[in-house]
Amino acid sequence: MAYDKDNIFARILRGEIPCDKVHEDEHTLAFRDINPQTPVHVLVIPKGAYTGMDDFAANASKAEIVAFVRAIGLVARQMGVVEDGYRFLANNGADANQEVPHLHVHIFGGKGLGRMIKPADK
Ligand code: 5GP
Repeated sequence: MAYDKDNIFARILRGEIPCDKVHEDEHTLAFRDINPQTPVHVLVIPKGAYTGMDDFAANASKAEIVAFVRAIGLVARQMGVVEDGYRFLANNGADANQEVPHLHVHIFGGKGLGRMIKPADK
């Protein structure tokens, strides 16, 4: 899949659309989800133009990968969800209902999150 440079997160990165930023470093940005599913719901994205995890894992530099993983941990701590627990999740592609074609990890927390996933329909 080719990267769509006008996807909503690319526009946030260019400053064309505002976001409620919680963390930024050279390679990553984290901001609150506009439609939170849990009391804490933050999105962590790389600044580079990566469609999803497959693209990122294959093409990102080591510095970008380290920064992304560190940012996920840092943001979880900053949001105060480390003690009670949290979930981080990335939807990739059509079967996962990925809506925005720029890699992003959701951090969910602030309440009990239930089981990870419903059993598949038979
Ligand atoms: P996906 O389904 O692709 O994993 O998740 C996309 C997420 O982006 C959704 O949770 C949605 O609420 C969030 N989102 C979509 N547009 C915006 C926006 O303009 N700003 C912010 N902060 N979040 C957005």
